[in-house]
Order: sequence, then C-alpha cells, then structure tokens
Amino acid sequence: MITVLTGGTGGAKFVDGLRQIVPQEELTMIVNTGDDLLWWGLYASPDLDSITYMLAGKLSQERGWGVKGDTFHCLHAMGQLGQPIWFNVGDRDLATHILRTRLLASGKTLSEATAEIATSLGVRARILPMSDSRVETRVLTPAGDLSFEEYFVQRWYQDPVESVRFAGAAEARPAPGVIESIRSADLVLIAPSNPVTSIGSILAVPGIREALRECRSRIAAVSPIVGDAAVTGPAGILMAAQGFAVSIAGVADFYHDFLDLLIVDSSDATAAEALRKTGMSVHCTATIMRKPEDRIALAKSVLQAAMQPPASQGQLERA
Ligand code: GDP
Repeated sequence: MITVLTGGTGGAKFVDGLRQIVPQEELTMIVNTGDDLLWWGLYASPDLDSITYMLAGKLSQERGWGVKGDTFHCLHAMGQLGQPIWFNVGDRDLATHILRTRLLASGKTLSEATAEIATSLGVRARILPMSDSRVETRVLTPAGDLSFEEYFVQRWYQDPVESVRFAGAAEARPAPGVIESIRSADLVLIAPSNPVTSIGSILAVPGIREALRECRSRIAAVSPIVGDAAVTGPAGILMAAQGFAVSIAGVADFYHDFLDLLIVDSSDATAAEALRKTGMSVHCTATIMRKPEDRIALAKSVLQAAMQPPASQGQLERA
C-alpha cells in the first residue's frame, strides 16, 4: 500500500505515472484542500478535482487541470451576465462542483462527497481530503491578504509575497483515514507539489506531521525544485518567503523531520552529493515530466529507489 501526499498539477502528473504501474486499489491520496474556494456559490476543490480526474483518466493533459475535451459555455454566459470569470470552470467540471455542493448541503462531509464523486467516475484508488474542516491558504501581499486562487489564478502570482498562513488549521482535524493511511502504508510518497501551499497546508493540519515523523515505513519526496527554481509556478517564491533556500537542500530542509529519501533531477547531481554529506539519502533521476512516458519512468525510478533502502539518517534517528 502506497500513500501519496499531493497537490494539483505537479502532483497529478506524478500520480499519472504511478497509476500506470501500481494497481489503483493499492494507492491512497491525501490531497491539499487549502486552495478550495466558493465559486458562484459552489464548492470548488481544485486539487481534489485534478487528482480525481487524473485517476479517472479524464484530466485535460494540455491544460493540466479540468476535464479533457471540456467546453466553456457556462463560463462565457456568466461573463455576459457580468459575473466574475477569472477562475476557469468548464461545463463538465461545473457538474462536479454542483454535485459536491449538493452533497455537502445534504449533510455529507467533504471526505464522503469526495469518495462519492470518485466512485461515480470509476476511480478505484482512495482519495482523502487532508481535512473535512475548512483550512484556507492565505497569501499576504502588499495588495492584501489573498486566497491562494486569488493570488495564483486571478493575479498570476505577480505580487511580492510577505507570508503564507493556513487559516483554520489549528482547529482542523485530519479527515478520517488520513492518519491510519500514513501509519499502515508500506511506503509514503510526497509528490513534486508546491512544498508551501500544496504540502505545507497538509502538514499544518495537527497530527499529520506527527504521524509522518512516527511512520515506520520509508518516506520519499520528489523535488519540485530543479536547480534554483520551481519547474512551474510560484513554489520558489513561496519557499523563499518562508525562509527556505530555493534548491533541493531547501526541499530537504522543508521535510527534514520525517524525510528518508529525496528524489532529485539528474542535473542536480552536484547539489545531491553535498546533500548526502548531511546524512540525507538522495536519488538522482530524470524528474521533469514533459511527455507521458516521462511520468511512468519517474514513478518506476521512485519505487525502485524507495524499495532498496540504505538506512537514512531519518530512519536511524527514529529507530
Ligand atoms: P498546484 O496546485 O498547481 O500548485 O499543484 P502542485 O503543487 O501539485 O504543483 C506545482 C509544483 O509541481 C511546482 O512546485 C512545480 O515545480 C512542480 N512540478 C510541475 N511539473 C513538474 C515536473 O515535471 N517535475 C517536477 N519535479 N516537478 C514539477
């Protein structure tokens, strides 16, 4: 059994590779919900949707979000009605938001709604939101205290970032199954997702970081940073804003208290050698997923590296 902590676009590409080499029944996803938003009165959960669509084979490969072959008639019509249209919702995608909102309004939890949607779409892996309570990623900028989607989608992450916080995290509890899936996993993987806003939000839910620290199985992360920059998006900017180096060493530092193995790009071989001297196990491989076959190759390489464990510093400390 493999448990994966993941966000949206980078995470979904990695999960695409995994789902092609591991039976879905053996996969559990713990997904970031810090980016969730109310859009036109509907409960949208971008990362839950990306992972669900990917596992259902329905994610748009060109866009990296939303449903393959979707149309945008409703979005255009809403624009004509003078409504905000900066968050792109396709017509088929809209159906998911409507159903989730209906399920939540009928008293179901986010976990229950997520499971129902996933099952309806034919997904056999388990998809768990990090929490059933609302935890909202807030990005403080000179332009104001923004939700993640306002910062990322509406304003194209152009604002300087002063800090990031997870509103509601202190009172939140992990969703049912989250802690147990970490404890019982044979392997825990951290996808190449934004460490601050996709994984940091999950780690901010009380109990999850502790469960990872106590986990007896290996924990391996794929670095979303290659060289001195994120492969895509604002991960570098956000890591710097939180005081972390924008490098594979910064990623190792972010996960230092539970990580056993860091998977980095082959182009980072020199930095990997330096990181090994600190006691971290590091595996170099091609981590940039441009083509569909790159995803499978990365997933295979990660599983292979994770299956041959030279005892890392993290494991020795926890033993
Ligand atoms: P978000 O909700 O769109 O922020 O989704 P994620 O957090 O899952 O994905 C963003 C992260 O994925 C960024 O930090 C990227 O650097 C990383 N990423 C995207 N594509 C790739 C890739 O092909 N390889 C690696 N190693 N990282 C990637």
